[in-house]
Amino acid sequence: MTCPNGKVSPPWTMRDHRRDHELTRVKFLSTDCAPCPVRAHCTKHTRRTLSFHEQPLFEAIQRRKQEQHTEVFQQSYGKRAGIEGTISQGMVALGTRRSRYRGQDKTHLQVVLTAAAMNLTRVLNWYDEKPRAQTRVTRFGRLAA
Ligand code: SF4
Repeated sequence: MTCPNGKVSPPWTMRDHRRDHELTRVKFLSTDCAPCPVRAHCTKHTRRTLSFHEQPLFEAIQRRKQEQHTEVFQQSYGKRAGIEGTISQGMVALGTRRSRYRGQDKTHLQVVLTAAAMNLTRVLNWYDEKPRAQTRVTRFGRLAA
């Protein structure tokens, strides 16, 4: 594999992935990455590492990624994207990954109050004209762009 800085990776290795199948692991040399002038844009580690699934799984993932650029997919995904953002906000900002209480009644109350807090936060952000967060691009994606 050749990186955006023109360095070629050494031979690849294999490793287990969740006991289901193997991953192909690509590691660039530390001697290439350590002095690289764009390393901070490429990786936060001392060298760049990439992993690939077995070919049938890799191709299925690539087909699925291609589908994601179709208008039909984007229309159907729009609904999911909205709720994913809400779930993420609940987990990251409001700690909904775990219930603070035992019992369904108290847990339900926590969910309702969390939803109310989330709505209130959104109203305040809208009132303060705070822009919504943009989807993040990976370091490697930024470097390739
Ligand atoms: S840090 Fe990234 S761009 Fe630089 S040599 Fe390593 S793989 Fe290539």
